[in-house]
Amino acid sequence: MEELRKRIVECDLCPRLVRFRVEVAKRRPKRYKDWEYWSRPLPGFGDEKARLLIVGLAPAAHGGNRTGRMFTGDGSGSWLAKALYETGFANKPESLHREDGFSLKDAYVTAVVRCVPPKNRPNSEEIENCNQYLVEEIKHLKNLKVILCLGSVALKGTLKALKKLYPEADLKGIKFGHGLLYRPSKLPFLLVTSYHPSRQNTQTGRLRWEEWISVFKKIREVLR
Ligand code: SF4
Repeated sequence: MEELRKRIVECDLCPRLVRFRVEVAKRRPKRYKDWEYWSRPLPGFGDEKARLLIVGLAPAAHGGNRTGRMFTGDGSGSWLAKALYETGFANKPESLHREDGFSLKDAYVTAVVRCVPPKNRPNSEEIENCNQYLVEEIKHLKNLKVILCLGSVALKGTLKALKKLYPEADLKGIKFGHGLLYRPSKLPFLLVTSYHPSRQNTQTGRLRWEEWISVFKKIREVLR
């Protein structure tokens, strides 16, 4: 996994994203004027013995792209850290920066695209370029029992990786929706889908806290 992380951090396969991840740092808001932005691809983060894998979309411009850790330092990260803490998958309710002591237990967090995309919209070529890393991460996580996909793009990217890893698995009929749980035949994991905890969802009321935490409670029950 360490070797994989190093390869991810050095990746520059997507020219548009390579440019954008650096540009974002140049146009940083005043509140982060003293930050040295990460501005590189983000590897996954968490417990390598995890039974739960959480797959997001991509690093946020001033979240992961700034701090250098998945779901760290922005609103989505706050929602995720709090839910993971409340259901026993994290040691603290906040994920703020790389040296904050936040750690995951029995959970691993990743994304279908490792570089921040303009307007949070990676194109299909970028998703395909990055898919190899998700495939490798899933292979390394030997204890996986549940994969939680946050948003429809995360679900599509995850299905793409699973088709490569488990061509015999029956993945037809899997659709995105909040709190849905699938047990595809010939796949050794459950698949769970949820809205992404982005501000567009949490601040508009599309995703309320009770709906969000209920997904993690359901997963905790399954793992028991
Ligand atoms: S998005 Fe993925 S494949 Fe593209 S440059 Fe970043 S790490 Fe490499």
